[in-house]
Amino acid sequence: MKKILVVDDSKTILALMKHEFSEYNDIECFYAEDYKNAKEIITTHGADIQAALLDINLPDAHQGEVISLANSYNIPTIVFTGTFNKQLRDVIQQKEIASYIVKDKISSIKLAIKSVFRALDNYEIAILIVDDSKSYRHALKNILGKNHFIILEARNGQEALDIMKNSKQRISIVITDYEMPSMNGLDLTIKLRETYDKSQLGILAISNLHDTSLINDFLTFGADDFVTKPFTAGEIMARINSSLEILNLFKQIADMANKDFMTGAYNRRYFFESGKNIFLKARRATIPVAVAMIDIDKFKNINDTYGHSIGDIAIKEVKKILDRNLRVSDLMARFGGEEFCILLENITQENTQKLFERIRQDFEENIIKTLGFEISYTVSIGIAYGLGNSLDDMINGSDEALYHSKENGRNQVTLQNF
Ligand code: GH3
Ligand code: MG
Ligand code: MG
Ligand code: MG
Repeated sequence: MKKILVVDDSKTILALMKHEFSEYNDIECFYAEDYKNAKEIITTHGADIQAALLDINLPDAHQGEVISLANSYNIPTIVFTGTFNKQLRDVIQQKEIASYIVKDKISSIKLAIKSVFRALDNYEIAILIVDDSKSYRHALKNILGKNHFIILEARNGQEALDIMKNSKQRISIVITDYEMPSMNGLDLTIKLRETYDKSQLGILAISNLHDTSLINDFLTFGADDFVTKPFTAGEIMARINSSLEILNLFKQIADMANKDFMTGAYNRRYFFESGKNIFLKARRATIPVAVAMIDIDKFKNINDTYGHSIGDIAIKEVKKILDRNLRVSDLMARFGGEEFCILLENITQENTQKLFERIRQDFEENIIKTLGFEISYTVSIGIAYGLGNSLDDMINGSDEALYHSKENGRNQVTLQNF
C-alpha cells in the first residue's frame, strides 16, 4: 500500500482529491486542512509517506512551512498553489520540490494527480549515472536520491555498458558525461543506441564544454537532451521528467497494441509473441513450464442475471485475482471473453498444483460488491505441465484439461503432464 498526503485549506480541493484518489485501492491517502493536522500525519507516518501534494499557504502556516517539514522527512513534494508569484518563486528556490502546479483551471487537478503518480513511479525507476568525476556523480546522486529514483553508477562508458548488460534492474535513463577515460559519453551513446531505441531508454548527456558541435553530435547519435555543467537540480529534474514522459508515451502506444483495453491484461497476440520466446528458452534448457487456462463457470448466468456491464466487472475481477496470486514474471493474457491463459516458468509441478488450487479457492471465496449486488462465481482451471513440442501444443493441452474440469463438475483444477 502506497501512502500519500494531500494538504490544502480548501474543502473543495480536498473533496475533489478524495474523489479522484478513492479510485485507487493500492493507495492510502491522508488529508489535512492545516499545518497542525499535516504535522501530526507527517510525524506519525514519516518517510512512509511516498509523495505529498502541498498547498504553500495554510491558515496556520503562510510561508511554506509544510514543505520544509516534508523535506525534512525526505518526502517528495509537489506544490499545488493558487498563483505563480514571488512567494512561489522563493519557495521553489529555497526548498526541494519535485514539481509545482498552479491551480488556475479544472485540469490542474488532473495534472496534480499525474505528478503524484510520477513521484510514486520514481521509486521503481532506475537511472544510471556515468561520470568519471566522483563529485559530479555525488551531486547527481543527491538530486536523484531526493526524488527516490533507484540509482546506479559507472565511472566510464565501458563500465556503463557492462552494467546495462548485467544489471537485473531495468534501467530507464542513462545520464552520461562526455569526457571520460576508456569510453567517452558520445561513444557510449552510439553503442547504447545499437541496442536500445528511444522507446526503451532515455539518454541525457552532460558536459562542461559549451561546444555546440558536440551538442549536435550527441543529439544526432541518439541522446534525448543535453545539460551543461554546472547544472541545477531543477534543470536535471525537468529533463529527466520529460524523458520519462516520452518513455511513458511509448509505453502507452505499446500497451494499446499488446493489451486488452477492458482488463489491462495482455491480449492473445502478445501472449503468443512473448510466450514463444519463453517456451523456446525453456526447451533449450529442458526446464518444464506450466500453461494454465482459466475460465469462469456458468458466466452466461451472470450476464443474464445482472446484465452485461456487471459481467464486465466480473471479468475485470479475474485479472485482479490473478495479479495478486502471480509473480510479475508470469505471463498472463485474456484469451477471449472470460477466459485467461497463463504461462509460468521455473516452477515445480507440485508448486503449480498448489498455486492454482489456491487461485481456485480465492475465486470461490471472493465476493464482488458492486452497484448494490453481491456477486460471486467459481472458475475451472486446466493446466499443461512439462515441455510439449510447441507452445501451441501446451495451450491445446491446457484446453483439454480445462474441458475435463468442466465436464467433471466445474470449480476444479486438472493438470495434464507433457
Ligand atoms: P461454462 O461454465 O461452460 O464456461 O459456462 P459459460 O456460461 O461461462 O459458457 P461460455 O464460456 O460459453 O460463455 C461465455 C460468455 O461470455 C458468452 C459471452 O456472451 C460472454 N462474454 C464474452 N465476452 C464478454 C465481455 O467482454 N463482457 C461480458 N459481459 N460478457 C462477455
Ligand atoms: Mg569527465
Ligand atoms: Mg465460462
Ligand atoms: Mg469461455
